[in-house]
Amino acid sequence: MISKDLRAASREIRSLLHTAQKPLIVAHIRPDGDAIASTLGLGLCLADAGKQCQMVLPDGIPARFKFLEGSRNIRNRMEPGYDLVIALDCSDQKRLGEDLSGIPVDINIDHHITNEHFAKFNLVLPEEPATAAILTRYLPEWGFPLTPAVANALLTGIVTDTIGFRTSNVSPDSLRQTAALIEAGANLSDVYENALTYQSYAASLLWGLALSRLQKEGKLAWTSITMEDRKKAGYSGRDDADLTNQLSAIENLNIVILFNEQNDCKIKVSWRSHSGIDVSKIAQRFGGGGHPPAAGAEIKGNLNEVEDMVLTVTKKYLKAQKSKGEN
Ligand code: 5GP
Ligand code: MN
Repeated sequence: MISKDLRAASREIRSLLHTAQKPLIVAHIRPDGDAIASTLGLGLCLADAGKQCQMVLPDGIPARFKFLEGSRNIRNRMEPGYDLVIALDCSDQKRLGEDLSGIPVDINIDHHITNEHFAKFNLVLPEEPATAAILTRYLPEWGFPLTPAVANALLTGIVTDTIGFRTSNVSPDSLRQTAALIEAGANLSDVYENALTYQSYAASLLWGLALSRLQKEGKLAWTSITMEDRKKAGYSGRDDADLTNQLSAIENLNIVILFNEQNDCKIKVSWRSHSGIDVSKIAQRFGGGGHPPAAGAEIKGNLNEVEDMVLTVTKKYLKAQKSKGEN
């Protein structure tokens, strides 16, 4: 059941999308499949409706998403002259990146439980497995048809955020939405191969370097990607080359952490958990956010400092969870 507030937000969003002539679509930095797919899904719809639409992702997009139609039209910087700002898959405005974090946002569509409702109109549905799943539901309701290119983009968001339908938030409803996308012309095997399975040679080398330093203490495991690793592997992106998902597949662990060194004295930290442990709470303590089983934060400092700090807090949290469970 959708609440009255959400219904009102949806009505306003529909009317804003129809009246805008030059919408600007943005999503979070180091965009993942859902951020990219949602940007493209909505962007293609608005372009099909005759709008002059800007899609802006300051970090560009990883090579594995370049198979998506329209991905070449995604820009790194915004141009002035937009008349509507839509943020997708982004739980707080800081995560839009430096250029975009100061502009007023009209519409915020997201599925993160930690979303700060920073826009004029907020459509935040934490029970949905992906922002692309929210768009799959609402775009046709708002009068924007799902063309094959739009459907393929949205399916990419759902497939990547659920790591191929294996996260616990996949529901019968999300599978029905997936079926609707396939009926609208999306190609599941193509999306699966391109967005989830295929990996560049450089990414494989990067995994090798990072995995060679994998450590484990009890049911906590962690490793890092350093700037040096990226250079050695010839990997140009600032993202994790999907390594966090791989770490989350290690059995018999409660939490895995990836420390990803950035070029601006910051460390991007990713937590993944099993057994119902809510890592978004830990991420929030460091100014980040996310979902209970998958969360992240960007922390100032050098790699050693941040590793020490995060490991200490995470171990304490695990201990507290354990004693809560025993009581
Ligand atoms: P990842 O670790 O793959 O970057 O992100 C896991 C989840 O946490 C995603 O849903 C992502 O949007 C969210 N997340 C990652 N980093 C941050 C951050 O710095 N701030 C917030 N609010 N959410 C984050
Ligand atoms: Mn998402």
